[in-house]
Amino acid sequence: MSMTSDIKILRTVAEVRQWRRDLLVKNESVGFVPTMGALHAGHLALVSHSKKENDHTIVSIFVNPAQFAPHEDLDQYPRTFDSDKTKLDELGGVSAIFLPTVKEMYPNGIKLDRSKQVGAFVEVQGLSHQLEGSVRPHFFRGVATVVTKLLNIVQPERLYLGQKDVQQTVVVRRMVTDLHIPTEVRVCPTVRESDGLAMSSRNAYLNEEQWERANVLVQALKAGEEAYLAGSRSKKDIVGAAVAVIGDLMLKSGNGVALEYMSLADPETLQEIDEIPEGGKAIMSGAVRIGNAAKGERVTRIIDNQFLPRDA
Ligand code: AMP
Repeated sequence: MSMTSDIKILRTVAEVRQWRRDLLVKNESVGFVPTMGALHAGHLALVSHSKKENDHTIVSIFVNPAQFAPHEDLDQYPRTFDSDKTKLDELGGVSAIFLPTVKEMYPNGIKLDRSKQVGAFVEVQGLSHQLEGSVRPHFFRGVATVVTKLLNIVQPERLYLGQKDVQQTVVVRRMVTDLHIPTEVRVCPTVRESDGLAMSSRNAYLNEEQWERANVLVQALKAGEEAYLAGSRSKKDIVGAAVAVIGDLMLKSGNGVALEYMSLADPETLQEIDEIPEGGKAIMSGAVRIGNAAKGERVTRIIDNQFLPRDA
């Protein structure tokens, strides 16, 4: 059975601009959901939020080379356009998909080796070097650059981002404010698998046993939150409780899990904090590597985070 689709597939900047201009004339609002494809329920939740708040929703699918280092998984990143489109068709209410080529987004080309890159890039100083940036120093420059390009092309009223990538939300919010980009940034809650694992396109890299190991991160964040709910306010106690859960599994799994970082930080400045002030908020975030490279297993990074107090 073939399904007819109302979704326009726009492949060039010129096509998006034309589509956008027509809507502007009709005074119809646009919500924008940027993705790298391999869509899952987390992405679809962003689309649903956008549908509620805008006349039109456009989803971009673009695996952005500038946010991958030469040793990372750019070539292996899942590319599943047909099933992505089917998911958006089934969800309904999406007006367009922007599906550009690398050449369209980077007309002068893009080298993965940062020292060889030439041209215009966007950097958000002070928010990009810590946490994810400490492990992936190229990452937020790539994200800020591609989001700027996409916002310049789409010119949406609203931009939808997921809480799962909390540092990305902080970096993009700051960029939008500092560069006077006329778009409202909306952040939607993390969508999880039934066992709690935060949904991610990279979860597809995990085999069944690694998936169970990957759950250690959400368990660790829970342990940190429990320490907080029991009255602890210090990083030592809260992060200590989280790290202990990961340490346990590290011992049991014989190097099948490695902790990259576990942080307690100010949600706006991303500065590490030693003590959550009375009535204050913090973001606890972590990253683990799942897979034992020495045994020839693929290594997958998993990230997750939790506000303290929750829903702050
Ligand atoms: P990605 O395709 O991984 O670049 O993600 C595109 C957008 O979807 C980003 O704003 C992510 O934060 C968001 N996202 C990814 N996973 C989830 C999730 N599990 N829940 C909510 N949003 C998510």
